[in-house]
This record gives sequence, C-alpha cells and structure tokens, in this order.
Amino acid sequence: DKGLEKTKENVFSKLTKMIAGKSTVDDDVLDELEEILVTSDVGVSTTLKIIERIEDRVARDKYLGTSELNAILREEITGLLEENNSADFDKLNINDNARPYVIMVVGVNGVGKTTTIGKLAHKFKQSGKKVVLGAADTFRAAAVDQLHIWGDRVGVRVVSQQMGSDPASVAYDTLQSAVANGEDVAIIDTAGRLHNKVGLMNELTKIKNVMQKVVPDAPHEILLVLDASTGQNAIEQCKQFTQATDVNALALTKLDGTAKGGVVIGISDQFKIPVKYIGVGEGINDLQLFNKVEFVNSLFK
Ligand code: GDP
Repeated sequence: DKGLEKTKENVFSKLTKMIAGKSTVDDDVLDELEEILVTSDVGVSTTLKIIERIEDRVARDKYLGTSELNAILREEITGLLEENNSADFDKLNINDNARPYVIMVVGVNGVGKTTTIGKLAHKFKQSGKKVVLGAADTFRAAAVDQLHIWGDRVGVRVVSQQMGSDPASVAYDTLQSAVANGEDVAIIDTAGRLHNKVGLMNELTKIKNVMQKVVPDAPHEILLVLDASTGQNAIEQCKQFTQATDVNALALTKLDGTAKGGVVIGISDQFKIPVKYIGVGEGINDLQLFNKVEFVNSLFK
C-alpha cells in the first residue's frame, strides 16, 4: 500500500473514530460519513451517490450495524470505480500489431507528466520493450531537458528538436524513427498550457493527425496526468482535457503526499475513464498499475 498511507489515515481512521460507540447506521453516522468522504476529495456528487446507496441499504435493514459499514463502503466504492484492464506491465495492453504502441501524454505543467513518462519508460524497458520518448513540449526548455535526463536515467532514446519548433513535427520524427528502429513503445510528451482551450484542442488534434501519417491508429493511448494532491483542481483539469481530446487513460500522481486520494474515486465515477497508473513517489519505481480492489482495500483495512 505504499503511498496511500495519508489518504488511508484520513478516511479509515476518521471512520473508525466516528463509528466507535455507535451501533447502528443512523442519520448522524451518515452525515459524518458524508463529511469524511467530502474532506477526502471524493467530490460532492460522488459522495452523495455513495450516501444514497447506503441509505437504500438502511431502508431495507433498519438495524444495519456500523460494524458492517466498512464492508459496505468497500463494495459501493469498488462498484463506482472503472476497471483497469491492464493487469501487468508485461502485457500492458500493448497490441502486438501496433508497432510502435503510441502513448500521447497530456496534462498541465507541474502535475508530474515528465516523471510519469520516465517511470513508465522504465517499466516498459524492464518488461523487455524497446522504448523511445518524444519531446513534443517544445515551449519549455526545461521540459525538453527533463525528458533527456529521464531518458538517460532509464536508458532510452529521446527525440527532440529546437525549442519552439513544431510539436507535431517532433511527434512525427519520433514515430518515423521508432518504426525505423523497430521500437515497441513511443511515449510523446506534449505541452500542457490550458489558458486557451481551443488552442489546446487544435494543437493536440494536429499532433494526432500528423502521427497517423506514420502509424494509422495512433495514438493508442491518450494518457492524462493529474496531480491527486490538488483535489478538486484535478477534476477541473480532467473536464478541460476531456473536452479537448479523447483521453482514454488517467495517471494520478503524488498520492504519497496527500490525504486527498479520494479524488481517484470521484474522477473515475464522474468521467468513466479508467485510472491506469498511480504515482506514489519521486523515484523511478514509484509507479503502480492501478487496481481498484487493492486500492479500496488499502483505504478501508
Ligand atoms: P511536469 O511539469 O508535469 O512534467 O512535472 P514533473 O514530472 O517535472 O514533476 C513535478 C514535481 O513533482 C517533481 O518534483 C517530481 O519529482 C514530483 N512528482 C512527480 N510525481 C510524483 C509522485 O508520484 N509523488 C511525489 N511525491 N512527487 C512526484
């Protein structure tokens, strides 16, 4: 359960304290439960959904014991989370016919995009895949530099051009050279400027279209990286990016430093996009494949 201690502390210990001395799930218990979920950043609408489901159970069983609340919460929350179909990093749902398998990574600056790309590259490499990174965030010199640092650390190739060059051109170069080199996975970093929604949409669309000239069904994955410690801001970013492009996977970072891990539940419920990876530290190995049952168990153990 590395990395989830703070959220667990926030959710589970408050829950334990709250139900101590109370035997049945009454209105007070439900009110307090609502507050615990909201303060863990589950989000108001998802919290109300969970509370309603528990109310339904109470309606059926008036004497529902607080001792059962744990198991019920686990069950209800697990039901709200989207299933992550990638069971392990070896398979990592890589379609063998897709060569290279292309992951376009989106998200605002500072959320942990570069770090997540580096960790992912490491996981792929460990599972025997050949990986290349594309530095298509050409607006920040620091972004390109950081990607090179990660490339060196992991031991994978990084394709970049000059600062300010066309991001789509970098993506195109990356895929062309990946095909030429027989690389299995290409991970493309993009700029995460959100101040202009139409601009963001146009830029991501252009990158996609250009990539499809090399790999017709690229990108296979559009991975949105969100910082879990920003709670409701992460939800807002998810809204913006899903409007701008077809995000089909989420990575939630910095779960190790926050008590707001409940945001994982709210985001999965609201957007119906699977959380695929979670970041639980700054190190190269601090990336886990998200497993909803394990996640919920670790919060309510
Ligand atoms: P980018 O601007 O989105 O590319 O963000 P970076 O990858 O440069 O990360 C920003 C900061 O967040 C760095 O200091 C990272 O070490 C840190 N970071 C990224 N992921 C995690 C994580 O899962 N846990 C923690 N504690 N820090 C992280």
